[in-house]
Amino acid sequence: MDSTLPQTPREKLEAWLRYYDDLNLGAFYTDRRTMPKRASKKRAAVEASIDKAPAAKKEMLQAFANTPVKATAPAAVLPVALAQPMFNLLDRIEGDTLPRIREDLGECTRCRLHTTRNKIVFGAGNERAELVFVGEGPGRDEDMQGLPFVGRAGKLLTQMIEAMGLTRDLVYIANVVKCRPPENRKPEEDESGTCSPFLYRQIDAIAPKAIVCLGLTAAQSLLKTKDSISKIRGQWLDYRGTKLMVTYHPAYLLRNPPAKREVWDDLQKVMALLGLKVKKVSK
Ligand code: URA
Repeated sequence: MDSTLPQTPREKLEAWLRYYDDLNLGAFYTDRRTMPKRASKKRAAVEASIDKAPAAKKEMLQAFANTPVKATAPAAVLPVALAQPMFNLLDRIEGDTLPRIREDLGECTRCRLHTTRNKIVFGAGNERAELVFVGEGPGRDEDMQGLPFVGRAGKLLTQMIEAMGLTRDLVYIANVVKCRPPENRKPEEDESGTCSPFLYRQIDAIAPKAIVCLGLTAAQSLLKTKDSISKIRGQWLDYRGTKLMVTYHPAYLLRNPPAKREVWDDLQKVMALLGLKVKKVSK
């Protein structure tokens, strides 16, 4: 058993409390190492959000606001955290920025993936992008370089972006988890549950016109759906008021090139939304 995981009920409870402390609603999910600097500002933000909240939410917000802000060292590994339903309740963080989110992420040790990663892959691209692509998690090349989608699947994604008349600099690319899962396995539910709030904040900060989920892991993280990819791909869906399109992951396309046809259909819908024209190839 991993000896860094909380063992006793008391340790587990303390780890949970630290986790909630991290959330602290308004400016949620902060690296505790930066907490002392921000504690009073954060508390003011929480108190302001309590005033505006409907009665049912108020009680819960108040309970969190009353949790004292501690300046403890980060836990080596936090417990299994299936906190997604709670994040639905959280308001957007006013004035949040990508550098601020990166700072809050810190040298993250919140889940077991930190033990095997080489570099954190935060995301890359344009903070004002109209289009955000979301993948699953870094692979070997991404883990080495600290950049998303730079391996074989990444080269295909770059071609897809360019076929849309865009460049990687104009869009933003991120993943559900920011550390490489060993052997490129799918992230476990607790790993994506722990990491995805940073992705939600990134999307909120960018406020794109559209999101493209590359594969089912990304779709499940943003839509909380149990549907199969064949059921949900190719149609406009809603992510907190932003249009979201699910399509196949480029790694799947490398294994199944005929599926590129469907992906191109999906991307053309995205292009129409963004007012991008398909270039006519002159004969
Ligand atoms: N696959 C992903 O889902 N993300 C990457 O960054 C690279 C490969």
